[in-house]
Amino acid sequence: MPSTGSHAAADDINPLGLHFTNRFTTDLPADPSAQNTRRQVSGACFSRVEPTPTAAPRLLAYSSEVAQQLGLSPDIIETNAFASVMNGNLVSADMDPYAMCYGGHQFGNWAGQLGDGRAIALGEVLAADGTHQTLQLKGSGPTPYSRQGDGRAVLRSSVREFLCSEAMFHLGVPTTRALSLTASGDMVMRDMFYDGNAALETGAVVCRVAPSFLRFGSFELFPSRGDLENLSLLVARTIRVHFSHLLPTDDGAHADVTAPVETNVIAAWFAEVVNRTAHLMVEWMRVGFVHGVMNTDNLSILGLTIDYGPYGWLEGFDPNWTPNTTDAGGRRYRYGNQPAIGQWNLMQLANAVAPLFDGDVEPLQQALDAYPTTFGDGWNDMMVERLGLVAFAGASDNELFGELGRVLQLAETDMTIFHRQLCNVDVATVQSATDEDVVAPIADAWYDDPSPTTVAEMATWIRKWANRAAADSRPDDERIAAMKATNPKYVLRNWMAQLVIDQADAGDPSGIETMLEVLRDPYGEQPEHHDTWFVKRPEWARERAGCSMLSCSS
Ligand code: AMP
Ligand code: MG
Repeated sequence: MPSTGSHAAADDINPLGLHFTNRFTTDLPADPSAQNTRRQVSGACFSRVEPTPTAAPRLLAYSSEVAQQLGLSPDIIETNAFASVMNGNLVSADMDPYAMCYGGHQFGNWAGQLGDGRAIALGEVLAADGTHQTLQLKGSGPTPYSRQGDGRAVLRSSVREFLCSEAMFHLGVPTTRALSLTASGDMVMRDMFYDGNAALETGAVVCRVAPSFLRFGSFELFPSRGDLENLSLLVARTIRVHFSHLLPTDDGAHADVTAPVETNVIAAWFAEVVNRTAHLMVEWMRVGFVHGVMNTDNLSILGLTIDYGPYGWLEGFDPNWTPNTTDAGGRRYRYGNQPAIGQWNLMQLANAVAPLFDGDVEPLQQALDAYPTTFGDGWNDMMVERLGLVAFAGASDNELFGELGRVLQLAETDMTIFHRQLCNVDVATVQSATDEDVVAPIADAWYDDPSPTTVAEMATWIRKWANRAAADSRPDDERIAAMKATNPKYVLRNWMAQLVIDQADAGDPSGIETMLEVLRDPYGEQPEHHDTWFVKRPEWARERAGCSMLSCSS
């Protein structure tokens, strides 16, 4: 393994003009050992570790929005120095690279220490827009948390993470961002389906960007070891830095951001994490995103979508669908179960911080108990919006939503196409039209010719919906515009990412930014892309690895 000394430069200041502030590593306890060996690390939030240089860093794609946010000009992005920094080959003295230490529940079981096994943060910067952002390289070499892994990432997974995090941002879903995707020039050995067929794959590194990469699991590890002192430090610092609006106005007296905060502030913080998580679940359900590995180490304390692995996008509406082959048995992380898992994970977080409450955990319990209502209200509002209605009308609307869920499953029906096309139904004439005419605007969403019963039931639902929409007396153009603003036309269908990956694997990465261009405007019509990307899953993708079946092997 190359040592620190093999880095291209040890300049004082990074060549990209970034302003590193490194508050996380300044504020919180560090692993006293500088040994980059796999081990248990206690009493620390992170371990300082240098990225392992790669053979031939090369820029494949970048996000112009994230670059602009950070204050990086296109000229700088195109330099060799940029690719070097984004592979960890050039580490300057103003950076403070580290891997985070956290634990987590995986598939419902406590898994102990996990940590950043293939991600190394370069540090935190003060971005051009005035926010603080952490730059994290995923695939930049082993850390003390790599266990049996090699700390590397492959091109296919990196393309998927890069594109999906930016697609989510443009959809308006809270997410970590991606600045760049670089090829490392190294080959990486992977057994994609854990079936003994390992093969060499192209290595890559994604630079992820977020105000914080803290996870629920970051808060679980300390109490699991009885270390309440460090739990308190981490909670206090997280609140002061990322939830400062919850602090009493006289908190500024604390020069030390890790000084304990009152339990009522911790309770308010937990309640906000509950809210943000509930909101995130509503958003995933709206766009048809299935995370695939909702372990507590993969849930962001900021309520962001984090850790894009074997995720997938719902095509045919099926609440039982999971993209993750590792989850195929129990389907714990299936589309329809995500809101419940969000709640289960919040319960683990509540258990983790409960020892800070001196036996009176009632405020935590109350916040947790609010989740079903918060999620339910959010869900109702979301459904009202996507169906073009003005306000939630109570039980009769719940019936309308529930009935839709049933009718969508009578035959395989593309969720994205259905919701996008529903606005084309003519609310004024639908009551007297034939069933065939009523369903015509959404007929494209069916994967096969629907049975007469399916057509009749769908027509009945559409007439009910049209009745309900007409009762709102909302002008058609206003309702249609509202529906288009909440029902995306372009999402990163599983096979779309795969086509781009195949092309990149064959040596042409240009499809990555071309795809990003389409995903930048998911609610726009973009007629030039209609016939190519606003279409159902093609037959070849049904059983193709990477499209319908994914594993954690990334
Ligand atoms: P994930 O399923 O991606 O959330 O990963 C679970 C744990 O395994 C995390 O601690 C990761 O950092 C670690 N891990 C996953 N892949 C690798 C790899 N290739 N090398 C080292 N650690 C890994
Ligand atoms: Mg993870």
